[in-house]
Amino acid sequence: MSPTPGFVAVPAAVVAELQALLGPDRVVTAEAEVETLSKDCYWYSPVLKARLQERRAGAAVKIATVAELKAVLAAAYRHDLPVTVRGGATGNYGQCIPLCGGLVVDLTGLDRILAIEGDVVTVEAGARVVHVEQAVRATGRELRCLPSTWVKSTIGGFISGGSAGIGSITWGGLREPGTIKRLKLLTLEAEPKELVLEETDTLRAFHAYGTNGVITELQLRLAPARRWDQIAITGPDWAVVTAFARRVAYDDGIPKRLLSLLEPIFGASFKPLRTWLPAGHAFIWLEVDQTATDGLAAEARAAGLNVAQIIPYHEPKRQPMLMEYGWNHSTLWMLKAHPGHTYLQLGLGPNFEEQAARLQARFPGQVHLHFEFVRGRRPTGEFGLVIPVLIPVIEYVSDAHLREVIAFAESLGIASNNPHTCYLGEGGTTPALQAQIKLKAATDPKGLLNPGKLKGAAVPPGLAEAMPQFLEV
Ligand SMILES: Cc1cc2nc3c(=O)[nH]c(=O)nc-3n(C[C@H](O)[C@H](O)[C@H](O)COP(=O)(O)OP(=O)(O)OC[C@H]3O[C@@H](n4cnc5c(N)ncnc54)[C@H](O)[C@@H]3O)c2cc1C
Repeated sequence: MSPTPGFVAVPAAVVAELQALLGPDRVVTAEAEVETLSKDCYWYSPVLKARLQERRAGAAVKIATVAELKAVLAAAYRHDLPVTVRGGATGNYGQCIPLCGGLVVDLTGLDRILAIEGDVVTVEAGARVVHVEQAVRATGRELRCLPSTWVKSTIGGFISGGSAGIGSITWGGLREPGTIKRLKLLTLEAEPKELVLEETDTLRAFHAYGTNGVITELQLRLAPARRWDQIAITGPDWAVVTAFARRVAYDDGIPKRLLSLLEPIFGASFKPLRTWLPAGHAFIWLEVDQTATDGLAAEARAAGLNVAQIIPYHEPKRQPMLMEYGWNHSTLWMLKAHPGHTYLQLGLGPNFEEQAARLQARFPGQVHLHFEFVRGRRPTGEFGLVIPVLIPVIEYVSDAHLREVIAFAESLGIASNNPHTCYLGEGGTTPALQAQIKLKAATDPKGLLNPGKLKGAAVPPGLAEAMPQFLEV
């Protein structure tokens, strides 16, 4: 494979140095394996796919302890090697694809659960979310928020590359103050230092794609564990199904962890669930406390809806589980069944039904609706507002067409979080971005951590020209 612009190779002498540190098995140089370790789920976006498929690291290393990580970061600093950190590699924005070679550092070996004390878990960054959730549930607690990729994702990757998920309908997104109590990160310097950020200060390193430090340890606040039942509800009339979803979403009296609302076209792509989902029916996934199940099922039936399946609480959860058909898993199933499609991430208002209908009317047959619901903040700053999040699967026509769909959505008062770029801050600067850039200036003096991904931060000499352009909107 010929090197891409700005590609920084890892010289043989440095490979030997890394092998001396980690042993030969944990330094990967074979092209096929380096290629695999250089990729994430960026292919959801045809825009990213076209620009990132040739990009890869020069070599990869697998870390098992913080001491090893420190030694590898020091070596990268000495040899001016870009460093891209990798967890479960389930990110959708090409966050852990190196833009200019260097080293990929796989942190999945750094996976100890260090303590569970009261409502706080302390965990190493490479631990899989599923293992953390199972460990805390054994103590009567649960994570406030987990991604539908909980089996593969690491906790550090979720904090560095994710945003919200199962649980966010009650607890809000990961950014919600209080959810991340503390994090430890390593700087990329001659002698990497450990920084400890507390409470809202942690947000400086949150969702930063590993550009301003390598997170080694996290403390997360937990929720009391509930006995969640799962309910699949279907109906042939979109308006009736939507009205029921609205009623449950906005009712704070119903303890819930998941509420997905999907158009019928999604059902056909969910192969393992097909027998539950009558053709032509729209549907709702619910995870509700078991005390609410009977009442909700009765209410759904009274509204003329079909309670297709009730999966009673079971510890541990068994297949199939509805959360793996919500969030971006719904998108995954649809993209597999409908090549030539992609997706968007949109935040709607309380008139979400009308906004979505106008979007569909403007692009007939091209926009397929899938809603999740997240608790956020009112304009006054008070926590509690229910935000309908639309993750539509849309036909990919061209980059210009994607821009047109986003622009039209914005004209309707819909907020867009563009998933067709791997850059943070592409949409313009914000105080949060400025805080991330400031932290990077302190933690990464040579600009070697995931270079290029944080717009506005310095990159090493000669690499700026190597950065691809994505969908600017
Ligand atoms: C099918 C599917 C469903 C998804 N569902 C959700 C969802 O429900 N909610 C959601 O928010 N996202 C979702 N995502 C996106 C993704 O799964 C999450 O962001 C996920 O938690 C990322 O974890 P990871 O370990 O795979 O991170 P990776 O993809 O490995 O890394 C993500 C970013 O974090 C950086 N990083 C990783 N570890 C560290 C560290 N220790 N220190 C510093 N930087 C680090 C990487 O460099 C990269 O930039 C989904 C993706 C797919 C493909």
